Amino acid sequence: SGEEDGGVGTRIMVYVRLRPMSKKEKESGARSCVKIDNKRDVYLTEMALETDYLRLKRLRGRHFTFDAAFPDNTSQEEVYQTSAANLVEAVLEGRNASVFCYGATGAGKTHTMLGTVQQLGVMVLALKDLFAKLKQRSPEGEHVVRLSYLEVYNETVRDLLSPGRPLVLREDSRQGITAAGLTQYQAFSADEVIELLHKGNTNRQTEPTRCNETSSRSHAILQVLVEYSVPQEIGKVLRVGKLSLIDLAGSERALATDQRTLRSVEGANINRSLLALSSCINALVEGKKHIPFRNSKLTQLLKDSLGGACSTAMIANVSPSNSSFGETQNTLHWAARAKEI
Ligand code: ADP
Ligand code: MG
Repeated sequence: SGEEDGGVGTRIMVYVRLRPMSKKEKESGARSCVKIDNKRDVYLTEMALETDYLRLKRLRGRHFTFDAAFPDNTSQEEVYQTSAANLVEAVLEGRNASVFCYGATGAGKTHTMLGTVQQLGVMVLALKDLFAKLKQRSPEGEHVVRLSYLEVYNETVRDLLSPGRPLVLREDSRQGITAAGLTQYQAFSADEVIELLHKGNTNRQTEPTRCNETSSRSHAILQVLVEYSVPQEIGKVLRVGKLSLIDLAGSERALATDQRTLRSVEGANINRSLLALSSCINALVEGKKHIPFRNSKLTQLLKDSLGGACSTAMIANVSPSNSSFGETQNTLHWAARAKEI
């Protein structure tokens, strides 16, 4: 189905999105440590207050360049147009594509992916765009759009559209790896899915952490399967493409638990999926033949949507606050690494 990519690996496009300073951060006197220039340069600077002089001194800093960097006043629409619109195009050409949001808890991943009803995120904007483009390309309505929305939490796969028992992953020669019994919702417009996705999101596993905040340790994956036929001179061809939109779990502990004794099974499992994703991306960066997809549920589910002829976009979300300096630095390093693909 669709065109071949000539076996040439597609590069991962990497974007950084800075969120505005929150009210809470402002009130606690946080300073901004991230600056964005030229729509692609990111400067991370650590400042310290010199107690003797009561003035700020620059301690250390680093400069990164990405495919694009979004300042804190960037609209959802602009983020979508720059990072994901061309992937919707690829899916309509019969390819698989994926968009990830990566970053610490509170950095803006869910805002970017799901958004709110007033500020629709990439998931909904992609569906709107998809339906509009399908209408042009298959005016007779010969198309099918199927959605599945699931979460990987604690290496357990759950259906977010119809919560219940954990789902088992199966591999078959025709469809690859799928979650058995997962709801495949046939959608007819983007509007009808807005509520569906928000409802699904409330089914995600969340847990209060020590800071009295709600921390998301689950990965949410929306997969959109598109099938439609394109008229040709003789007959027509069927195009099949799949778009995966992934709101990853908070990355804050991904590095910390890497070498050390793992404090809890849950921590270990969350990181298993994030670490496995990192390993796969590293293997792709290094042009390895063997990509270790088997190491986690997340990477098994995304096996047909990462690397090879697939188009991939990574949006790294960061907070501007100096209180999140360490997490922001980790996120930017990780994103810079992914850019080397
Ligand atoms: P995460 O999913 O990474 O944990 P959220 O998306 O929940 O983070 O964002 C944390 C808070 O910051 C939320 O209250 C969210 O509404 C707000 N926020 C995040 N990004 C933006 C943005 N670009 N503009 C305005 N508010 C934002
Ligand atoms: Mg979130």
